[in-house]
Amino acid sequence: PGWAAYRGRFAPSPTGPLHLGSLIAAVASYADARANRGIWLVRIEDIDRPREVPGAADLILRTLSAFGFEWDEDVVYQSRRTDAYRDALDMLAARGLTYTCGCTRAEVARAGRAGPEGPVYPGTCRPGLTLGRRARTERFRTPPGAFAFEDRIQGPQEQIVDAAVGDFVLRRADGLHAYQLAVVVDDALQGITQVVRGADLLLSTPRQILLQRALGFGQPGYAHVPLILDTDGRKLSKSLAAAPVDARNPLHALRAAWTMLGQTPSPADLTPKAFWDWAIPQWYVARIPAKTSVACPSA
Ligand code: GLU
Repeated sequence: PGWAAYRGRFAPSPTGPLHLGSLIAAVASYADARANRGIWLVRIEDIDRPREVPGAADLILRTLSAFGFEWDEDVVYQSRRTDAYRDALDMLAARGLTYTCGCTRAEVARAGRAGPEGPVYPGTCRPGLTLGRRARTERFRTPPGAFAFEDRIQGPQEQIVDAAVGDFVLRRADGLHAYQLAVVVDDALQGITQVVRGADLLLSTPRQILLQRALGFGQPGYAHVPLILDTDGRKLSKSLAAAPVDARNPLHALRAAWTMLGQTPSPADLTPKAFWDWAIPQWYVARIPAKTSVACPSA
C-alpha cells in the first residue's frame, strides 16, 4: 500500500538554535509524514564546518524532543558521510559531467551576470583549466533546457538552470562538498520520498533534480512552506529578531507555527504530545498559503 512508502525528513543546519523559521519546516514535515502514516527522520546538515556553531546540533535535537517530535531512525550527520559524497562526485566525474574550475569567487562575481541566486557562472573553465591556473572547485556541467517540477504547495515550477545559475559547484575551494550534492546523496540514501522544507530552497530544487537524474536516483515529491518574514520584510532566520524558540514553552511556538501554516488554530493548554495527537489528524496541505513568504504576526 502507498502509505507505507512515505519517508520524510527535517534537515537543519547547526548554525544556531531552532527559531520559528526553522520550526515551521519541522512542523510541516513532521505533520505531513505522520498524517500519511510515514517515517520521519532528522538529518543534521553539519557539512559546512566553517558556519557551524558548537553545541547547536545537540541543542536543536533537545528542542525537537521537548516539542514532542519523535524521529524513527538514528540521526544522520553529514559530517560523517564524506565518503558517500566523494563516491557520488567520482561517479559524475567518470561520466564526464564535472570539470575543474580555477575561478575565484571574486572572478565569478565580476564575470557573471546577476542571477536570482547570485552571479551566474559564465563557464570560463568549461573548455579546460587554463594552463598555470590552480584548481579550486569542481563544477557540474549543467545541461541546457528548462527543468520543471510540481510543488505540492507552490504549484508548477520551472527553471532554466543553465541561465539561472550556470555550472554550479559540487566541491568547494576549501575541499568541502557542496550542499546541493550532499542533500541529493542523503535524500536518496535515506530513501526520502517527500521533501517538505522552507521556500528558500525552492530555487535549489531544479539543481537537485538535475543531480538526481545524473546519479540515477529517483525524484522525491516536493513541498516548500512559506518563509516567515519579520516586520522589516527580512527573512526571520537572517534577522537579529530571530529569537530562538522557547524550549520551556513549546506550545506557544508550536501553535504559532501551526497557525502560520494556515492550519486550524489548536486549543491552548495542551502538552506537546496532546498537541500532536490533536494536530496530525487535522493536517491539511491545501490550507498552507501558496506563497513563498508570510509575515510573522507579532515579531
Ligand atoms: N540544511 C538546510 C537548511 O537548514 C535544509 C536543507 C533541506 O531541507 O533540503 O536550510
